[in-house]
This record gives sequence, structure tokens and C-alpha cells, in this order.
Amino acid sequence: MSDFDVLVVGSGPGGQKAAIAAAKLEKRVAIVERRNMIGGVCINTGTIPSKTLREAVLYLTGLNQREMYGQSYRVKDEVTVADLGIRTQHVIGREVDVIRSQLSRNHVAVLTGSARFVDPHTVDVIDELGRDVKVSAEKIIIATGTRPARPASVEFDGETIIDSDGILSLPVVPDSLVVVGAGVIGIEYASMFAALGTKVTVVERRERMLEFADLEVVEALKYHLRDLAVTFRFGETVAAVERRPRGAITLLESGKKIPAECVMYSAGRHGMTGELALEAAGLTADDRGRIAVDADYRTEVPHIYAVGDVIGFPSLAATSMEQGRIAAHHACGEPLHQIHPLQPIGIYTIPEISFIGRTEDELTKAQVPFEVGISRYRELARGQIIGDTYGMLKLLVSPEDRSLLGVHVFGTGATELLHIGQAVMGCGGTIDYLVDAVFNYPTLAESYKVAALDAMNKLRRVAKFEL
Ligand SMILES: Cc1cc2nc3c(=O)[nH]c(=O)nc-3n(C[C@H](O)[C@H](O)[C@H](O)COP(=O)(O)OP(=O)(O)OC[C@H]3O[C@@H](n4cnc5c(N)ncnc54)[C@H](O)[C@@H]3O)c2cc1C
Repeated sequence: MSDFDVLVVGSGPGGQKAAIAAAKLEKRVAIVERRNMIGGVCINTGTIPSKTLREAVLYLTGLNQREMYGQSYRVKDEVTVADLGIRTQHVIGREVDVIRSQLSRNHVAVLTGSARFVDPHTVDVIDELGRDVKVSAEKIIIATGTRPARPASVEFDGETIIDSDGILSLPVVPDSLVVVGAGVIGIEYASMFAALGTKVTVVERRERMLEFADLEVVEALKYHLRDLAVTFRFGETVAAVERRPRGAITLLESGKKIPAECVMYSAGRHGMTGELALEAAGLTADDRGRIAVDADYRTEVPHIYAVGDVIGFPSLAATSMEQGRIAAHHACGEPLHQIHPLQPIGIYTIPEISFIGRTEDELTKAQVPFEVGISRYRELARGQIIGDTYGMLKLLVSPEDRSLLGVHVFGTGATELLHIGQAVMGCGGTIDYLVDAVFNYPTLAESYKVAALDAMNKLRRVAKFEL
């Protein structure tokens, strides 16, 4: 008999939810995690620290209050790394505590160390002192996540030339920062440092950033970031980064030189499969360390599953959790639903972005007709009260049946507000519901009604012309 029914490797969102789901089904469950990494990248180096840092930046800089109290308004003149770190460490500590308590309440055994396959049903758990213990399980769920990808040509030193993990241990808030890569992580950090007053330059090989998001929203974000003195270098490739006494010089292939105190590479992430000895289990990973799975998150070895960032797109905490739960249910023979195809995206830039469904570009390309309904925060009482005069909510509506094809939000509370649209879309609702519904006043949620009315009026106008 195996030591456990289900063994989970990695305690990030995917692993955690898999372990809890299996434990709720009364299975004997263990989770393997390295020391000081309970909660995974999500809690320790990724989602939670970055989102807490953002909250600390917004509070201490007073950025969101300047519309009301003037451009010189600040809660603290010199924001230090210590100011930012206090809040981050506090939240990480609490979150780790919550996860430990959930695992223990559900009788999930926590095995500390790094897991390595010995055979398809056995892993060796090796701690930092080299001591090991072999454990066997009927089913194994790999949820080992990713680490920042580091180009071999760049000399990372953890202080001047860093990756996104290095942001959390910077000794000071740099005066100037080059961000290489305008993906979600790169742009989120670029906007936080710009808000702190750091002179930020973003270098991106592609001509656009966040090309999967609504173009109008991305343009609005770029406008705001430029207003915070961010310089964009699109269509540019980094040729070399040279360390100098006062920082580093980033050389671009176009010949430009960008001096900065710090350079942060945000050049994608690599699956954490190198230490797993996958071959011993009969598994392989691709050249980016990712493991292939089927619709039920099963690998090519049927009793071994993989979930979360280690399987690639969309690499979000939210989806990783759901994948973990589904994989555990499948592994335990529990009837299950597939993951819902409608998935929200939240981008915690300053200001934030969130969307669900399709963009205008996607619909146009697919020749799907749509009407646009827009609400601007400045026309909402709540927008004026909170001093957000730039936010907006956009509904993309089918003229055929008035259903929602996409919802795009930019500005305060975007990532929360989006879920109203998600609920309407998920339940097959139309803008008729939003037009007829009464919303609390004054709220930002009211923007749904305003945007729905806007779309309805435009549809009515088309109908009149067609008479
Ligand atoms: C800076 C940053 C910001 C982000 N912001 C957001 C956001 O706002 N919203 C969002 O939804 N997502 C965000 N993400 C992505 C999110 O963090 C990931 O999608 C999520 O953490 C993936 O979860 P996971 O379960 O795959 O495991 P991870 O959280 O990656 O954790 C994997 C764990 O496995 C452990 N592990 C690896 N190998 C072994 C081994 N051999 N033995 C034992 N343990 C092992 C690791 O120690 C780690 O703790 C962000 C990521 C980063 C880096």
C-alpha cells in the first residue's frame, strides 16, 4: 500500500487547492514544499508581494488623492524600501499562516524539502541539509510553478541587474530603472516605480505591449505612464547590459544607451521541472520546462497530473487554483465540471486593467459585428468623489441578441468591478438586464448601467436608420 493516496508537489495556488480538495474527499494527502516557500511563488515572490507593494505605493505616495488635494500631496515625502517592506512582510506572514492552518485543519501532511522522482509512484524528498525520505503515492500532482527566465548573456547580481524576484530585496528605491520586457509583470512594476518617482524606461522588442488587451485601454495606460515620466522604447532589442559604478548602462541594438541605477529583466518564466528527475517517472518537459497535459490535467503518465504555471498559459494564480481542484477531483474519481471557458484577466498596473471575453480587434478580425457602450468614471458621482476622472468601462454588445461579447475596465477597482460583467456573461445575460437593474448610488458599479444605456441608444439609432 502506498504512503499516501495523493501526493502534491509544490504548495502554490495549484498545489494548495489540489491538496485541500483531495483531503475534503477523505484521501490521505501530503504536500511537498521547500523551506520558507509555503504558498509558492504566489505568496512569497509573485502575486501577493507585488500586489501588496502596489497598495503600499498607492497609499504612501498619495497618488490617487492628488486630483483632490493637488499634485504635491504625499503621505510621506521619502518612501523607503523599509516602508514598503513592512506591509509586504506583514501580508506574506499572515497568508502563510492561513495556508498552514488550512493544510493542518484538513490533515494534509507537509513534507519539507525538494521532491525528485525515483519511479512513477515514488518521490524522494530532500531537505536543505541533504537528508531524504522516500514517499509513495497512488496519484501524484505536480504543481511546481516557474522561476524567472534569465538570459545567459546577462550577469544578474541581485542589486543592479535583477529579475522580478530581485525587486523584493532591493536595498533602496532606485532613482532610475530600466525594465526589459513589457509583459504584465514588467509593466506592473514599471508603473509602481514610476508612481514612487523613479525615472523608468521600458524596453520591449515588440511594437505593442499587452497586445491581448483592448487597444483603447492600453493606450490610456500608456498615456498615464508617460505622465508619470515613463519612457517607452518599443521595437527595440537589448544588445548588452554593462555594470558601472553608479548602476548599469543598457545598450540597445539601435545604438541607444540608457543609464540607470537598476535594470530589471522581465523576460518570461521557466517551468520548475529541472530538479524533478521527470525521466524517472516516464515524463518529459519542453524547452521552457513545461509539462504537457490533457483536458483533465493528466500528463502522459495517467496517474500523474500537472497544474498551474508549470503547464503554461494562462499562468495565473486564479486559474492554477481551479486546475488544482479539478485535477484532484479527477484523480479521486469525483464527478467534475470542466473549467469555465470565460476567464477574467486582471492587470494590476497603476491604473489597473481588467477584462473578460473578446476585444474589439478580435471581434473585427472574426467579422463579428458589435456595438460599444461606454461609461466614463468622471460622469459618475462616485468617480468624482474618489477623484478618478480617467477610469472607464466598455461593454462590447452583440447587435443580434444584445448579449455581452466582452467587458473592459480601466481605472479604480477594475479587477473587482469586472466580475459583475463576468456574472452577466456567464449566465447568458444581455444588456437589457443592466439597463433595467437598479444599482447602489453612488457607486462605480453604476457604470454598467450607463454603458448598457449607451450601447442600447446606439443600437436604437441603427434600427431607426434601417427603417
Ligand atoms: C511578480 C508576479 C506577479 C504576479 N501577479 C499575479 C496576479 O496579480 N494575479 C494572478 O492571478 N497571478 C499573478 N502571478 C502569477 C501567479 O503567481 C502564478 O500563476 C501562481 O503562483 C502559479 O501557481 P502554481 O500553483 O503554479 O505554483 P507557484 O506559486 O509557482 O509555486 C510553486 C511551488 O512549487 C515549489 N517547488 C518547485 N519545485 C519543487 C520541488 N522539486 N519540490 C518541492 N517543491 C517544489 C516551489 O518552491 C514553489 O513554492 C504573478 C506572478 C509574478 C511572478
